[in-house]
Amino acid sequence: MFKTAIEAKRALETKQVSAKEILDAYYKRIDEIEPDIQALNSLTKDLAYATAKTVDEKIARGEELPALAGVPLIIKDNICVKDTLTTASSKMLENFVSPYNATVTEKLNENLIPILGKANLDEFAMGSSTENSAFKVTRNPINLNKVPGGSSGGSAASVAGCEALLSLGSDTGGSIRLPGAFCGIIGMKPTYGRVSRYGLIAFASSLDQIGPFANCVEDTALLLEAISGYDTNDSTSINTPVPHYAKELNQDVKGMKIGVIKELLGEGVQEEVRENVEKAIQKYKDLGAEIIEVSLPHVKYAIATYYIVATAEASSNLARYDGVRYTYRAKDCENLIEMFTKSRSEAFGDEVKRRIMLGTYVLSSGYYDAYYKKAQQVRALIKQDYDNAFAKVDVLLSPTCPTTAFDINSKTADPLSMYLTDIATITANLAGVPALSLPYGVDKENMPVGVQLITNVLEEQKLLNFAYALEQAK
Ligand code: GLN
Repeated sequence: MFKTAIEAKRALETKQVSAKEILDAYYKRIDEIEPDIQALNSLTKDLAYATAKTVDEKIARGEELPALAGVPLIIKDNICVKDTLTTASSKMLENFVSPYNATVTEKLNENLIPILGKANLDEFAMGSSTENSAFKVTRNPINLNKVPGGSSGGSAASVAGCEALLSLGSDTGGSIRLPGAFCGIIGMKPTYGRVSRYGLIAFASSLDQIGPFANCVEDTALLLEAISGYDTNDSTSINTPVPHYAKELNQDVKGMKIGVIKELLGEGVQEEVRENVEKAIQKYKDLGAEIIEVSLPHVKYAIATYYIVATAEASSNLARYDGVRYTYRAKDCENLIEMFTKSRSEAFGDEVKRRIMLGTYVLSSGYYDAYYKKAQQVRALIKQDYDNAFAKVDVLLSPTCPTTAFDINSKTADPLSMYLTDIATITANLAGVPALSLPYGVDKENMPVGVQLITNVLEEQKLLNFAYALEQAK
């Protein structure tokens, strides 16, 4: 087993191991650990071995390879991979075989990155613990009684459990960063529009963004570079060149300004989370960065704003699952309306239904102005908070989550307490800015603490550099 993608790539290039042998080793590991962690919905062995074969042939011919060629990756099961099941962990799509590749899947293929399998998630990416999957509850590889975080819990657990060296998740309100923090690995949400959403099953289209999980910053930078870029199939993707993030990595933060978000280090933060985040701040000081306290005054409205905007968009995006095409269809229905109703009632889980109902409510006539329109106005204020902060500092810092990973089943009965897990992560989605969670220290039970770094729009390089500085100084 390798610790990082770079290490695996080096072993490949120096012919210590073939791409096929790497896959054999990772599939063996999956066989061993999957019964414990339950991170995967399906395996895509044919696809992975076909890619590995191309890699080995190229090596035999002495051809140059893309940076991550042959490095095993797992992809979240809400991203389309042609001719394989793409379920979003919903009964609604249990038998859906994608007829096309998502743009990120195409990019993984171009980069000869073997896709080992599809990772479990909260149904349609709605949740913070991966307990909302219709199929299985993924467990945290560090402690099997704890959640891995969500909604990309399977993606995070698969990398933390050494089933793969890299994975992809999607982040609508923290779904990459939170499981990254809970599982002790790096999780990054790029700028909205940096990575194409084409072929990502939509949850809340103005917030969704695909991003990488990895064991180190350099691997993260390489994977981000591989999946980023303009795409004519996604009208919200940004048409600017993709930097060579890994080549440009630089750990010099001397004289740079770090804003510590006041509102996110106050009340309700677990003591050991605070302690470790403060240690990270001290480390940056030692490295010569200037620390400034910064206020994002509208953070207090973030949860309410997010759960209005996200549910409104979800209620509209999920209207397409009607039992007519490619979805679950209820049996023995007497008419079309009954077929719609029964199909949706039988195939959506409780959390998805809750969101559809909330979203339909906030968009309905008479409530639209009071809820949806208000939320959009507050969203603009949150973006303004970020603009004001970035006029003063290079990067913002906070805990990724106020607590470390919680016990399985401890929050499932109380949706509001589950929603509160997202307090530190959702504002970056509302503002569209990039953010990353880096593991830093552990609590008394040995569960990892995540430090969140946030930069301004399209400043991924700066974000990775800050993370790299802290990682290297550990
Ligand atoms: N936990 C948040 C939610 O349930 C975020 C999910 C996500 O980022 N996909 O909506």
